[in-house]
Amino acid sequence: MTRIYLDNAATTPLDRRVAKAMRDFEMEFYGNPSSIHREGQRARAKIDTARAQIASFFNCKPQEIIFTSGATEANNLAIQGIVAHAIEHLKIKPHVITTELEHQSVYNVVKELENRGVLEASFVKPTKDGLINADEIIKEIKDSTVLISVIFVSNEIGSVLPIREIGRELLTINSQLSTKVYFHTDAVQAVKYFNCNVEKLGVDLLTFSGHKINGPKGIGGLYINIKSGTKVKPLMYGGSQEYDKRSGTQNTAGIMGLSKAYELLGSLEDRQKNAIKISKLRNELINFISKFKNVEINGPNGASRSPDNVSFTVFNIDQDMLIAKLDLAGIAASTGSACVSGSTKPSHVIKALGKIGKRQAATLRLSLGKQNTEKAIKDVIAVLGKVLS
Ligand code: PMP
Repeated sequence: MTRIYLDNAATTPLDRRVAKAMRDFEMEFYGNPSSIHREGQRARAKIDTARAQIASFFNCKPQEIIFTSGATEANNLAIQGIVAHAIEHLKIKPHVITTELEHQSVYNVVKELENRGVLEASFVKPTKDGLINADEIIKEIKDSTVLISVIFVSNEIGSVLPIREIGRELLTINSQLSTKVYFHTDAVQAVKYFNCNVEKLGVDLLTFSGHKINGPKGIGGLYINIKSGTKVKPLMYGGSQEYDKRSGTQNTAGIMGLSKAYELLGSLEDRQKNAIKISKLRNELINFISKFKNVEINGPNGASRSPDNVSFTVFNIDQDMLIAKLDLAGIAASTGSACVSGSTKPSHVIKALGKIGKRQAATLRLSLGKQNTEKAIKDVIAVLGKVLS
């Protein structure tokens, strides 16, 4: 059997057209985009075009897009940047609201700043099904709240969180407050299938990454709403690139790849069609896996679940053995904590669902991508049948 890659939430295979766009660019446009000579200007013009194209995907202004080394940096910039600005200008200990479903690059940042005494944090817990209502976020707001950071689509259990509803409720609340509460979402896993129009979502900051959409690794970005006066202090100081928000010579080839990957995502209609196609494969897997007695599906059902996510916990089984068996059978799956380097312990997200307790359990995530075929999913089901029974 040829190998079947089912770890697309960790990273996706690079699209050949993206690789070509990067290679072609790199050989010809080697100038530093900050240089004023012609080579520099040519590289700068290409970046400007890419920025405008990505801005149109999110329905924002080009100068509201800040390129970073990926989503981890963008999440850090959003949280640390808002918090540092609040401390400097409001002279308070800021309060930040986030959730227990966040990726480590939000969760661990807020935890670290809380441990250092820099901020006060509220971590909203999900239901057993991995969902959180907008009201549960909103009710945590207090006088010192400066930021709400909520993941759009969980990379682990596929929950789709109510970003639009939170944005809408916040708009009303902010109109009555003297100090605005900013709203950030990590949309890394959402851009492939969902409407990420920042105005419709009502967000001030939005994180995205290249390698989750068949683009290159090491490039991503942060949308920062200029109109709402969102101010972030930079994480790094230097040559003041990226509108003073992110110093350092831009990863120009990466930006070209990112831009091509966004072009290939297509229109919202294309993405919604893809979502329907992929969710059929996801449902086949979930329906099959649900039949086993010692297995529980993690995360919500139906429209509240990302089209590409299958997460489940198998009780009374060794996790490493399960992953190894699938790997030997030609299937690349991941544990519930794929983003924590080398870790096979349950992540904070899986623990937050509150179902593992002291029992031995293995959590697996199968995340689908555009290269996965119906035939491949049938093969996976055959293997899972043997391994799980
Ligand atoms: N947020 C989410 C939801 C993710 O899935 C990931 C990648 N696993 C990240 C942030 C970090 O992205 P990057 O690798 O670009 O730093």
